[in-house]
Amino acid sequence: MTEFVSPGGPLPHIPDDLTLTQFILDSTHERMPIRPQGATWLVEDATGRKVGLEEIRSRVFGFANALNLKWGISEDDVVCIFSQNHIDYPTVIWAVHRLGAILTGANPSYTPEELAYQLSIAKATVLIVHPDALEGALVAAQQVGIPFDRVVPLDTIRGPRSSTVAPDLHQLIAYGLAHPPNFVERRLRPGEGKTKVAFLSFSSGTTGKPKAVEIPHYAPIANIIQMATWWRVNDDAIPWENRRIRLGDIALAVLPFYHIYGLVVNLHFFLFCGMSVVVLPRFDFVKFLESIQRHRATHILMVPPMVVLLCKHPAVNKYDFSHVRMLFCGAAPLSGALTEKVAKLLPNADIGQGYGMTETSTSVSMVPLSQKTGTLGSAGQLIPGVRARVVKVDGTLAKIGESGELYIKTPSLALRYKDNEKATAETFIGDGWIRTGDAVVIDKNNDMFIVDRLKEILKVRGFQVAPAELEGHLLQHPDVADTCVVGVPDDYAGEVPLAYVVLSADAAKRALQSQAEAAKIKATISKHVADHKAPYKRLAGGIEFIDAIPKNPSGKLLRRTLRDKATRRQSQL
Ligand code: AMP
Repeated sequence: MTEFVSPGGPLPHIPDDLTLTQFILDSTHERMPIRPQGATWLVEDATGRKVGLEEIRSRVFGFANALNLKWGISEDDVVCIFSQNHIDYPTVIWAVHRLGAILTGANPSYTPEELAYQLSIAKATVLIVHPDALEGALVAAQQVGIPFDRVVPLDTIRGPRSSTVAPDLHQLIAYGLAHPPNFVERRLRPGEGKTKVAFLSFSSGTTGKPKAVEIPHYAPIANIIQMATWWRVNDDAIPWENRRIRLGDIALAVLPFYHIYGLVVNLHFFLFCGMSVVVLPRFDFVKFLESIQRHRATHILMVPPMVVLLCKHPAVNKYDFSHVRMLFCGAAPLSGALTEKVAKLLPNADIGQGYGMTETSTSVSMVPLSQKTGTLGSAGQLIPGVRARVVKVDGTLAKIGESGELYIKTPSLALRYKDNEKATAETFIGDGWIRTGDAVVIDKNNDMFIVDRLKEILKVRGFQVAPAELEGHLLQHPDVADTCVVGVPDDYAGEVPLAYVVLSADAAKRALQSQAEAAKIKATISKHVADHKAPYKRLAGGIEFIDAIPKNPSGKLLRRTLRDKATRRQSQL
């Protein structure tokens, strides 16, 4: 039997009786550097406002008290946050955890239908919303029966309001602080951190529609300790100049906190490491370059499309990046060519790639400490505590250098898909192992290469797109009799969705009349997606008419056949 283990050393203690919030805000750990009194934890990008631990603790208490006083939020209640990054986003997370409740973060570019789907699957009872996303949030709240007085603006609303909602976050914090504590925060029982749910993060796993992944407190805590152990954070044996992470470093947080990578790595891991985290509301390339320079950022986390821009955009030459010591990329593949280009652009920086997934509370593999760019094209090496099996098509285990599906066992594993036993059984295969749906090769140097994606999902700009979700939606269009959505390669986004469509009999007749008529049908089908789905899910790869969707004798979609056809078509364009 061949099992791969991390080349990193053993893991130190992982607390299983703390919430993630207690671990970050209230505890110490051998890998966690001790910050000086009054150190900056969070920085608001636009204003430069700095927030330290005392202020954070006070705001978190105030908001937790208000959530409990006003709506009785307590153990295992679910609160949804529908927002871009904001300096008070972490306040919401930590307040919810202080109450023993669960947070689910939704992408603010979601349409009301998409948000309503998440709210109903997660069973959220309070909705915290960025003012810019309020109108859509109210439509979703109404659809799922969340009263408007449980919709909390995350910041002061400027301009007219269409409906009466709850007081905003600042007002609620003041209200909570003005009242004596109405709740007692509890320490978890030994071991309870392994089962007590902290987050419901959405992922469609190997197949089907997005599902709520139950992530216990122990999982992100473990992942933080795994990463800190791999990079030997706070290790006095490493000379200061060789440390990848130093107390007082400045990280930019442009990756969204509603996605596991932004949440666990960009926010909590970097705070654990003693960095100041500069919170950027969203990715706007030129503003992003200005922020890197203005804050003299040392650490930047990215997804590959951001690296593409960095390598190609003419504005880049105007900026000074000499202070950047690390650029880390994940969520989708980063090619060796791009790695080399960006390494030239940032001569003082280590360029690292990592691989992970929502179901593993982020990181599984990362660039090793000692390598400036890692091995080009590699997704890094397994981090401490990770065991891997590479399973070949015939079910046997691959050896070094052979490819197969990656199976993982890690302390940072999620528990299950909420209320979905079938999908849970398919992916969480027992004894702490998970099927990743990714094909990999691990070579003799311990480098892991992601060679294919076996599961259905597409990754568009680092975001998951579930073909099943788009197919279900397309089938509601009267012109669509059958459909299959696949990804086609795209230089910027990584891949984009393309829909193969079998037209209904009536639409097929119309399409035969003229090219203009066929184009009109495509336009209405495209609009049907654009009107109801977030921008990154749009059919940017186009629509192709096809006589029949290839299926096997038992009716299962032969998605791979169409994916290969789409890729061939793309390369001929
Ligand atoms: P998510 O749960 O949204 O983080 O998506 C996880 C999936 O993203 C993985 O199963 C991979 O398919 C893909 N992924 C993440 N990191 C990488 C990487 N470095 N290279 C290739 N694919 C990646």
